[in-house]
Amino acid sequence: MKAVAVFPQSRELRVIDDHPEPKISAPTEVKLRMLEVGVCGTDKEICHFDYGTPPNGSDYLVLGHESLGEVVEIGPGVTSLKPGDLVVVMVRRPCEEPGCVACRAGRQDFCYTGKFKERGINQLHGFMAEFVVDDEKYMFRVPPELRGIGVLTEPLTIAEKALREVNNVQLRLPWACPVEPGKPREFCHNAVVLGAGPVGLLGAMALATSGFKTFVYSRDEKPNAGSDFVEKIGGTYISSSTHNIEQLAEEVGNIDLVYEATGASKFAFDTLRVLGTNGVYIFTGVPGRKGPIELDTDTIMRNLVLKNQVVFGSVNAGRDAYTGAIEDLAKFEQHWPGAAASLITGRYPITDASKLACQGVGGIKNVVAINQ
Ligand SMILES: [Zn+2]
Ligand SMILES: [Zn+2]
Repeated sequence: MKAVAVFPQSRELRVIDDHPEPKISAPTEVKLRMLEVGVCGTDKEICHFDYGTPPNGSDYLVLGHESLGEVVEIGPGVTSLKPGDLVVVMVRRPCEEPGCVACRAGRQDFCYTGKFKERGINQLHGFMAEFVVDDEKYMFRVPPELRGIGVLTEPLTIAEKALREVNNVQLRLPWACPVEPGKPREFCHNAVVLGAGPVGLLGAMALATSGFKTFVYSRDEKPNAGSDFVEKIGGTYISSSTHNIEQLAEEVGNIDLVYEATGASKFAFDTLRVLGTNGVYIFTGVPGRKGPIELDTDTIMRNLVLKNQVVFGSVNAGRDAYTGAIEDLAKFEQHWPGAAASLITGRYPITDASKLACQGVGGIKNVVAINQ
């Protein structure tokens, strides 16, 4: 069958048509016909051979980790899925170390050993193939009405996991917004999203949905596709070319949360300087190593202490974040019909996968449409 393969040795990325079609080999396995696979910065890194490891014994890795497939066959022990169901597949698989309490508890997104595997990234073939087989425990059913945006589930899980962590962290203090009987709930917390790429804009939707007054701070001057989108979902777009960090802070008020989604470390740490009282700062970007930068560490450290701040990083996601992402996609459709779909700016045939992953074609989120 056809698949998009990365050959790190010969530094090639191309469509192959002789990738063996996977078969169900255990009772709880499910076979999917892949519909769509999203492309992101991780694929770009793999394309530039900075990242990505083929499975043992294979000289190539099948690319793709942002999935949407349709069930075509189920093993005799499968109870949660049936043919015709739409499904998103989890990316990370647990390590095998008996002492890794995170993986042993099914929370491989918090793996201690780093010996986890990831489909389409690290030692397991990905989803840019005509068919995929995996265990039902790594699959999440997507309602048919979300067929057009289900492929956004995986990139949305980043924000979903982060928000779950924020809710846990903020149990440390009185955090719930006051509710006046008979009145609609007032939103009392301000969130700033750094970056207007797909992770940032999906994060903005998740934050707005869970009650934050949401600001997106990004480089490009408005109007642009990102600023139009932010306004459509009731947020405020602020450009760093017209507002410096201090002006951002003035405009927002107390910054209760920062959701960093740029991978630009200088920009990110400069914003940490204006995090508000009792604020939480979440890093999700992975910067390249560009050398030391100058930082106002005295201000940052003073604020961390005197304003009770918390900073954490977050990667990958557990089952709760996947199911939460699917629920939130449905809420997004209710709140802002068609908005999530507008993040998908292009659908391309599998033959364009290398152009999408390696060069990029502009737009917000581009998707390889594998089957119709
Ligand atoms: Zn991705
Ligand atoms: Zn582990």
